[in-house]
Amino acid sequence: MAALDEQLAPLRKGYVCGCGRRHQLSILDIEVDTNLLARIPEKLQKLGLEGPAHLVADTNTMLAAGGAVESALEKAGMVTSKTIYATPDRNLVPDERSIARLFLEVPVTTEVLLAVGSGTITDLVRFTAYKLGKPFVSVPTAPSMDGYASAVAPLIVGGFKRTYPAKPALAIYADLDVLCEAPSHMIVAGFGDLLGKFTARADWQLSRILHGEYYCQSSSDLITTALEKCSADPEGLYKRKPLLIQGLIEGLILSGIAIDMAGNSRPASGAEHMLAHYWEMRSLQEQSHYHLHGTKVGVATPLILGIYNKLFHMDPGKIDLAGLARCHHTPQETERSIRNHFGPMAEEILGESPNKRLTWEARENRVRLIQAKWDEILSALAWLPEPEAITEMLRKAHADSTPAELGLPQKWIDDALTYARHLRARYSILDVAAELGVL
Ligand SMILES: [Zn+2]
Ligand SMILES: [Zn+2]
Repeated sequence: MAALDEQLAPLRKGYVCGCGRRHQLSILDIEVDTNLLARIPEKLQKLGLEGPAHLVADTNTMLAAGGAVESALEKAGMVTSKTIYATPDRNLVPDERSIARLFLEVPVTTEVLLAVGSGTITDLVRFTAYKLGKPFVSVPTAPSMDGYASAVAPLIVGGFKRTYPAKPALAIYADLDVLCEAPSHMIVAGFGDLLGKFTARADWQLSRILHGEYYCQSSSDLITTALEKCSADPEGLYKRKPLLIQGLIEGLILSGIAIDMAGNSRPASGAEHMLAHYWEMRSLQEQSHYHLHGTKVGVATPLILGIYNKLFHMDPGKIDLAGLARCHHTPQETERSIRNHFGPMAEEILGESPNKRLTWEARENRVRLIQAKWDEILSALAWLPEPEAITEMLRKAHADSTPAELGLPQKWIDDALTYARHLRARYSILDVAAELGVL
């Protein structure tokens, strides 16, 4: 709608940003509106796509939106084929089996793929369309995650989740009538994913201040309006007020665009995502405690804010370096504990973050750097909300607000706080806390 168009106008034209890079939106058309499904064929034709189209959905999303899209395409005379995954008989995951089915069923003559669904369907289609060299259009059915505008596809291959390169959607058509009817656990998951942007932004600023990491203010600002709208009235999300659902889906779409602008997921993913990612991995390994991605991010966010809070209340002058030196773990000791903890996954993790296994000398330098930059960090992050404020927002949205409410064992929580930071090279508050011996 108008506000979103306005926000995206400079990006559409392309501009050289204060961060030193040129930003340009690669997604040609984004619309969030009511009564949108029936207009999809006409919108596709405006983009030069006359068909044939291949529609991908699951049983639920076919009912929610796929059927209406299909009949609109037929009415417009566009040849349509489709792949419908059966749910909930078998919980759909973006794995080898589901990908192979798409490769088998998409006709060679297909001009455009339509992903009618949320996370899994969109990831499957994004990856397949990219590999087939065909464009795809995303028709979100739930405001549940921030991957709609994403350029990459997280897939589960060999039982492990890995991110594969792909291309963003050519267009995103989010029908508000459909989104307002989405299952509530999906709406709260999307809200959780959006709330994680608070700590993601804080971590990014932290890394800019301490390590001079590339930072793009305008990509970070892109999400602000939507984030403010949704955090101001979480109950409105529970009540499915169209204005709030619109704020949520826009925030989630804009997160994906911010990621594209920054060239990595920094604007949308920090320590809260590392905890969520850790729990996701453990769910896969132990085959228990499955939750939507955003639900985990949501409960991880107050946890991370708690760590920020703890540090904000520290006196940097009173850091006991001699004490830290005495209990310091050498790189070899850290490597051993990572191997013990992660088992078969350890090799990959060790390769991801060698810069996090520090000698005492390196760590001492880090601590002195943190001390020197303390005031700058405090004033740059003065905007950060209290953990209780986020917990309250989750409650008002009728979401689980703590990992315990979600049913995660205390051991998973403790282990995540210790080990999750090794999953990514990305510097976060978890590293600061580890360096200062706070965790
Ligand atoms: Zn996320
Ligand atoms: Zn920029």
